[in-house]
Amino acid sequence: MTLVLHGVPVSRGVAMGRVHLVRRDAVDIDEYALKAHEVEAEVARFDAAVAAARQQLDEIRAEVPATARANIVAFIDSHLLMLDDPVLTSDTRNAIRTQRCNAEWALKLQAEAILAVFDEMQDAYLKTRRDDVQFVVDRIQRVLKNAQPAEQALERKTLTGSVIVADDLSPADTVLLDTERVAAFATEYGGPTSHTAIIARSLNLPGVVGLSELGRYVQSDDELIIDGETGVVLINPDPEIRAFYLRKQEQLLRYQTVLADLTNKASVSLDGVAVTLNANVELPSDYDSARRYQAHGVGLYRTEFLYMNRTDGVPTEEEHYAAYAALIAKLKGRPVTIRTVDLGADKPLNPGAPQHAVNPALGLRAIRLCLKSSELFRPQVRAILRASALGPVKLMIPMLSSIQELEQTFEIIDALRAELRAENEPFDPHMPVGGMVEVPAAAVCADAFAARLDFLSIGTNDLIQYTMAIDRVDDQVSYLYDPLNLGVLRLIQTTIDAGLAVGIPVAMCGEMAGDPTFVRLLLGMGLREFSVHPNTLLEVKKLVRETDVGDVTAAVREALSVPDPYRVRALVERLNIGN
Ligand code: PEP
Ligand code: MG
Repeated sequence: MTLVLHGVPVSRGVAMGRVHLVRRDAVDIDEYALKAHEVEAEVARFDAAVAAARQQLDEIRAEVPATARANIVAFIDSHLLMLDDPVLTSDTRNAIRTQRCNAEWALKLQAEAILAVFDEMQDAYLKTRRDDVQFVVDRIQRVLKNAQPAEQALERKTLTGSVIVADDLSPADTVLLDTERVAAFATEYGGPTSHTAIIARSLNLPGVVGLSELGRYVQSDDELIIDGETGVVLINPDPEIRAFYLRKQEQLLRYQTVLADLTNKASVSLDGVAVTLNANVELPSDYDSARRYQAHGVGLYRTEFLYMNRTDGVPTEEEHYAAYAALIAKLKGRPVTIRTVDLGADKPLNPGAPQHAVNPALGLRAIRLCLKSSELFRPQVRAILRASALGPVKLMIPMLSSIQELEQTFEIIDALRAELRAENEPFDPHMPVGGMVEVPAAAVCADAFAARLDFLSIGTNDLIQYTMAIDRVDDQVSYLYDPLNLGVLRLIQTTIDAGLAVGIPVAMCGEMAGDPTFVRLLLGMGLREFSVHPNTLLEVKKLVRETDVGDVTAAVREALSVPDPYRVRALVERLNIGN
């Protein structure tokens, strides 16, 4: 009989295959006291274990095929860096010396202290770095215990076509998944922003995580179907179910081919309306995807990545400049919209440090924080201005809520332009400056912002959060996170209309723009510029090419003109029939 489990889908696609079970017995950690004369030998044993762990990672790194994506190497590098981090190694050595305990125990205590800091964090992305600490500590513990490295549990003659079932997977495991051409994976732990999930998406490997009951029900060589779209996992499916999923798999494959064929096609609607499709990028690996899927340009470069995982303060002007120069070079003349840093709230500058704000989402974040700290803002704006001499660059200001903030920002930009001029540093004096509409006050007064800015971009992730008065990272109120709420839609419409009235472009760069459900609605509302994750770009293009913008415009205007929240929902369903 077929057994069905539900988990968190992290990477689309349907796959089926025989289970390869990865069981990694946890290493038992002994605790014993050392005599004074044994202490230095124990420190040396610990250092040797760290060196051996480093060698293992170096070997895995060398195995990453040249064709594998850059972010896999980056994840392994981050583990290598952690092995050099004094918080992990020096403090463990100190603990061996001061507490006279064995290396395993000292490392366990140190790891617990670090993990406790991660447990306090709100940010889902940073929380996943907890897994990295765990993977690195586990690797050292295994060396100390003379146990085999975790990834060896994955080894067998061939993994090709099998479905990997594990408690969790590390980046090192993922290298093997990639080289062995496994069909899919399912894990007990992990969430949509875990490393496993991020890597799986860039490898197009179907996966479901967070299946806490998985280990109880699955055995080696069971047949498993993984639906990475719905999060459904079927164990030993009946023939009819199997046939259903085979059909679904074929459909998806056909769909992928259809999408791939669109890569070089124009993004123009049935009635000839041209729509700009830009990419949202964050990590250097996204630059390649933006190119691969032929994005018109970058509509949102989230620069927060430059501030993360560092212990030496904020990035210097040169670090900013180098990062922007690399992106501009990759994009080869396509426009790049660099957003000034949006730190604060769920992306604190010092993760782990106590937050003083009672409600950080309503606190000092993004442009508010930058206007308070010239140390933060100045090097970035100077670097963006200098980068504008290298290619078409736009500067985008996040979280604007008042015209005064905009005026203050302009003053700073003008002063830095004067500085660069005096230094004979080249920059584009006409570099467009735009703002994100993410706060209801800015959407309501979008006309005032449109009169002063060169473009607007609607950040629906935050606009919905602030309009609905819900914290976007709070699961308890996520049911209210609704892009189709009439209040949200009216704010979007006001913003688009404000841009149209003065002839400046209005883009949307929040997740709503990349959700196929809303593409026709947004086209009908007058949106002509979408900025989406590179992986969803072709899907949006397909919808644009299959839409008569004139038809949907009339229907959408009519549905939004009446104060009936159900009308627009019914319309969206109608617009999407047949997709
Ligand atoms: C948004 O708020 O929609 C947005 C694109 O910005 P971020 O998700 O980085 O806050
Ligand atoms: Mg935002």
